[in-house]
Amino acid sequence: MNRLEVLHFPDKRLRKIAEPVKKVDNEIKNIIEHMFFTMYEEKGIGLAATQVNIHKRIIVIDVSENKDKKIFLINPEIISLSDDIDTMEEGCLSVPGFYETVSRPKTVKVSSLNYDGKQIEIEANGLLSTCIQHEIDHLNGKLFVDHISSLKRSRIEKKITKLKKEGAVPSRKSTPNYKSAI
Ligand code: ZN
Repeated sequence: MNRLEVLHFPDKRLRKIAEPVKKVDNEIKNIIEHMFFTMYEEKGIGLAATQVNIHKRIIVIDVSENKDKKIFLINPEIISLSDDIDTMEEGCLSVPGFYETVSRPKTVKVSSLNYDGKQIEIEANGLLSTCIQHEIDHLNGKLFVDHISSLKRSRIEKKITKLKKEGAVPSRKSTPNYKSAI
């Protein structure tokens, strides 16, 4: 299993809009397995294919304590969002080391394809809902920093660019007390 390279903000490839999966075949299942492997290695709770430079509409998620509840979404479409809003501190594997408060609808209902290529529906709230919305944003070339002020965003951009130049982007593996990042 290969650990895929995670792109970091402000890499322009994170702005690409992912293409729908045409057929759920072995190639897609293989991508999903590598994405789960990479997500667990990076100590993340969610990963969108866009983040590993694969521009297909695929998301993997595991928000469980024991890391034993894999959820994957293929061609996810939002069916409905609640009017109620939840505010959470979000992080992102593509924006390492930064956490900001983001408000999103509390509940989300999405459709997805399963491994048989059949359409299923998932309703989520709490952390899973936030995670699904954050990951669907990635497939549309959007990052959680787009939900915060442009001043804060450009500060983060400058800091990450500086750290990259110094070869010192924080490694999640070397941070034992990591916070969840998606
Ligand atoms: Zn993210």
